[in-house]
Amino acid sequence: MGVALDWTSGSHWGGSHEPCVICGELTFLVSDRGRPCHKECAERWYDAHPHVEPFGPHWRT
Ligand SMILES: [Zn+2]
Repeated sequence: MGVALDWTSGSHWGGSHEPCVICGELTFLVSDRGRPCHKECAERWYDAHPHVEPFGPHWRT
C-alpha cells in the first residue's frame, strides 16, 4: 500500500510556479520545508524510500 499524503492545507500551496525537486516539472505545490514538489511525486518517492525522511518528520502530515 502506497503512501498517501494530505496536502490539502494552504501551507502546501506556495503560489509560485517552480520546478518540482523530484521530477523537474513545474508545480504550485510545496513541501512542509518550502521546497517545490508535486504531491504525487512525494508519495512515489516515499514508496521508493520508505526509511528516509529527507524533508523532516512533519512532511507526511
Ligand atoms: Zn513532480
